[in-house]
Amino acid sequence: MSLPPGRIHHIAVVVRSIETSLGLYRDLLGLPLETIMDIPSDRVRIAFLGVGESKVELVEPTDDTTGVARFLASRGEGFHHLCLEVENLAEELTRLAISGVELIDSAPRRGAEGPVAFLHPRSCGGVLVELIEALGGPSWRGLGMGDPA
Ligand code: ZN
Repeated sequence: MSLPPGRIHHIAVVVRSIETSLGLYRDLLGLPLETIMDIPSDRVRIAFLGVGESKVELVEPTDDTTGVARFLASRGEGFHHLCLEVENLAEELTRLAISGVELIDSAPRRGAEGPVAFLHPRSCGGVLVELIEALGGPSWRGLGMGDPA
């Protein structure tokens, strides 16, 4: 059985400054800015820009203690992760774990737009893969995460 993603939810790019990067993604490439928000639990600030049914996520570390900050320090700005939408995140994680995929998050956690979990690049051909259960999916309440913000 293969993963049945609904779509590419977003592609994430690590940036030094969201404000500066909007000069490219919003102003020159013309992608509409949907939102900018702080995610204090991850010590990042993010922006989503729409591209059809998908998005580009800009990720700016807000301190230097996180993996994202170390990524920026060691590799500079650039592609960070691919996020695929799934129908039932908890089921996918169980199935992938049984199949031997190394999970960074063994259980769904609260993301900006739905429950999310990351798969280790070691199991994904060097790509950090995030799975998201779409906004309004069944996991928000089932996981005790409350209603979507
Ligand atoms: Zn993401």
